[in-house]
This record gives sequence, structure tokens and C-alpha cells, in this order.
Amino acid sequence: MGTEQRALFIIFGGTGDLAKRKLYPSLFNLYRKGFLNENFAVIGTARRPWTDEYFQKVVTDAINSEDALAEDATQFASHFYYQSHNVNDTEHYITLRNLADKLDRKYEIGGNRMFYLAMSPRFFGTIAEHLKSQKIVTTEGYNRVIVEKPFGRDFASATELNDAIGRYFPEKDVFRIDHYLGKEMVQNILAVRFGNNLFRALWNNRYIDNIQITLSEALGVEERAGYYETAGALRDMVQNHILQIVALLTMNMPASYSEEDIRREKIYALKSLKKYTPAQVQANFIRAQYTAANGQRGYREEEKIASDSATETFVAGKLFVDNENFSGVPIYVRTGKRLSQKRSRIDIAFKTMPTNIFAPQPLGQNVLTINIEPEGKIFLQINVKQVGQGFTLKKSHLDFFPTSNGKQVFPEAYEKLFADALAGDATNFTHWEEVAYSWKFVDAIRTAWDQHDYALEEYPCGSMGPVAADKLLARDGHKWFYTGQEH
Ligand code: NAD
Repeated sequence: MGTEQRALFIIFGGTGDLAKRKLYPSLFNLYRKGFLNENFAVIGTARRPWTDEYFQKVVTDAINSEDALAEDATQFASHFYYQSHNVNDTEHYITLRNLADKLDRKYEIGGNRMFYLAMSPRFFGTIAEHLKSQKIVTTEGYNRVIVEKPFGRDFASATELNDAIGRYFPEKDVFRIDHYLGKEMVQNILAVRFGNNLFRALWNNRYIDNIQITLSEALGVEERAGYYETAGALRDMVQNHILQIVALLTMNMPASYSEEDIRREKIYALKSLKKYTPAQVQANFIRAQYTAANGQRGYREEEKIASDSATETFVAGKLFVDNENFSGVPIYVRTGKRLSQKRSRIDIAFKTMPTNIFAPQPLGQNVLTINIEPEGKIFLQINVKQVGQGFTLKKSHLDFFPTSNGKQVFPEAYEKLFADALAGDATNFTHWEEVAYSWKFVDAIRTAWDQHDYALEEYPCGSMGPVAADKLLARDGHKWFYTGQEH
């Protein structure tokens, strides 16, 4: 059972997709695990004129899939209240404050407040300002604000957004969500790297040949078309999730497993990303769009997408972290929609033996694979002797596939992140400086694409991207280990 926490959650965008799909089920799991008990309440706010009863029904429906006991679910939902609210209207914040203060007393919460901004970032500044000016932030407990992605669309707009929040909330109270950091296998990167002397010794440019990160999605743009058309894969996936994984893979060993030490090293890693000139962008980054195939529409035929859209739905690139341990190691990344499978996977390829005493038999490369999803597993390819007479080598692997009673059950990323935020631990949230360095790296690519007529490649739905993404590696004598099939 978790340590019981006292908190009042105010969820802006409480009728939205994210709230229903992720936030309410995650809060319910924390309730069932004892992190939340009697001393909590949730205010959902959005524009729709819902009643508390209707809101509580929405919440029970949202958690229904979590094999909820009806009694538990009803008890949990009784802590939910709804406040119809237009975030631009000052009057509404006064009503919100009165409700918040009333619930604080009723549930003996002690002034702890979590403001979850699950709506468009263009509202973040005005919400932060009103929370302060209308005294919804308390003086006795903590006041933490959790913000969703996207955090800006380039360095300049991210700075503006950060200033708009930072005027009212200090950095230590701002929890920027990157839900990949709440994933079990992403958190395992640090355990593998800094818990095993075996890997510590090998985790550098003397032994690592190249690193590959693939975040592939099988879905198309779906209902996020409006947003996606203005963002593209580079902003939507590389600036945040991929660069966060790069930071975890290449950061130096922190002095301790603490928020401050881990973030410091991640910031250094992101600061060390090699910035590209436009010509280097052209040589090292590929953008592409999906086209109709296998009964699926092409990107330009999707609803709400311009028929001449130049938005990329796929990116592949080669990048470098120029720190002492990683300079010279190519890090190949790719992400895209409508690829053959949904899979998030990291492959770390080690250099081959300097001499092969078994020649002419070939020696396979040692590859450490960290599969993040759909299944979480770690897989190490090694060379062994085939059982029997003679001496024939074969490839084999050591693997780690964590299960409990034969099933793999990981807590939902949002559940872990909520628990961290309640405990005031921001280790798995992105610090402003991480966001800033990531945008600076991405801006150089985006600007080169916007200012030059570099190719926008095509790939058929259901493939693993354009041929150019394979050529990017072939040029260096490499190939993608993940080919779009199950491992
Ligand atoms: P949504 O469109 O489903 O919900 C938006 C919410 O904001 C609704 O509750 C709406 O009523 C409310 N709202 C809009 N304008 C308002 C106003 N003027 N005053 C008060 N309320 C207003 O969006 P969503 O999918 O839930 O996403 C919310 C945020 O989370 C966005 O920033 C999105 O980029 C981010 N996000 C969502 C997902 C996801 O899976 N849905 C994933 C990652 C990030």
C-alpha cells in the first residue's frame, strides 16, 4: 500500500479525452492502492454545464474498464465535483476558489493543491495568473501545477509559455509531463546502466558501436489531425520522448539517485547534443509522409488535412551527444505514424570483437534491446557454442521479461507520475532546461526544413518508413535491427 496523501486536484479540461482515458483511471488506481483515501477531492472544470452527479457518472464509466468493484468506484467518485468554468472569465475563478476552500475543509486536506492543466497550452498563462490573483493557491499547503505536452512549438514559444507560468509558480512546483518517463521500461534504463558494473564498463564510445531508437505507431492522425497538421512528427515525438530517451541513455552517472542529480546529468547530455548546420540537417535527417496503401488512406486524404500538406508524419535521423563517453557514437532515431506495428524499442549495438579467432565463422554483434512496449522486455544477444561435436557458433540471447503470475502488468505511466507528483518528486518530469536544450536542437532541424527545399519522402501505410531511412544507416554500414516484425 502507498503512503496516504492529502490533496485537492483541480483538473482544467476535466471533460476532455485525456482526463477520461488516463487521469481518472490513474487516480482510481492510486485510491485502490491506498495513496488516496478519505482526504482528497477532485474538481473537474471545463466549459460544459455538467452537474456533480453527471460528472461522477462520467468518472465511474471512465474507470469501468479497470475491473473496478462497483462499491469502490462509487465511493471514489463521490469525491468528484464539477465546476463549469471558462478559463478566461475572472468571475468563475471566484466560484472555483469558494468550492476549493469548502472541499479543503470538508475533506481536511490541509491546503495541498494539484492543478492539472489538461487543455490547450494557450490557456496556461491565464490559468496560472488567475490561480494566483484569485487566491486559489493556498498559503499553508503545497501548490503544484502539472502541465501537458506540447510545451511550446519552438524554443521561443516554449520560453514564453515557461515565463507565463513561472511568473506565478516557481520551477520546483512545475511538473511538465512526458509520459514516456513514467513507463516502466524507460525507468529501467537507469537501473540497467547504473546498477550493473558489467554495463557501466561497456557503456561508452570504446564499446558501443551505435544506438537505435524506434517509436513506431500503427495508427494514423485520428482525431488529433488539427493539432498534428501544425506540429508534425519532429515536434510531436522527437523534441520530447525521443530526446528524453537519448538523455537517459547517454547521461553521465549521477552522484545519487535523486531528482537534483539526475536532472543535472540529463541537462548536460541534452546540452551536448551536436547542433547541425542546414547542410548537415539535409544529410542526417529525413522527413516523410504516409501514402495510401493496404486499404488505408494517405495523410493528405485524411480529414482536416490540407491536400498539399507538407507536414511530416515520419522522421528518421542520426544524432550525436558530444560528451566524453558518447562522442562519435551515432544515435539513429525514427518515429512515425501508420507504420507496420506499434512498438517502442531501443537497440544498443556493441562493437564486434577486435579479432575473431573462430574465423571463417562469423561473430554476431552483441545487441542489448530494451523493448518499452507493447511488451516490456530486455534482450541481450550473445554468441555461444552449439551443443554437440565440433565447434560451431550460434547466436543466442539472455532475456528478462518481468511478469507476475504469468502476466505482465505494469502500472499506467500516468499513475506512476501522479504518485511522484503527490510525493513532490519531479525526477520523472522534464525540467525547463531539458525542454530548452531539446527545442534548440529541434529548431535547427525545423528551420533548415522550412528555409530549404529538402525532400519530403513518402512511405506506404503499413511499411517501416521510406527507403531513405534505411539508406541513412546503410551509408555507415549499419542497418535497423528492428524491421517491423516481432522480435
Ligand atoms: P480535449 O479537446 O479532449 O479536451 C480539452 C478540454 O479543455 C475540454 O474539457 C474542454 O471543455 C476544455 N476547454 C477548452 N476550452 C476551454 C475554455 N475556454 N475554458 C474552459 N475549458 C475549456 O483535449 P485532450 O485530448 O484531453 O488534451 C488536453 C491536453 O493534453 C492538450 O494540451 C493535449 O495536447 C494534451 N495531451 C493529450 C493527450 C491525449 O491522449 N488526449 C496526450 C498527450 C497530451
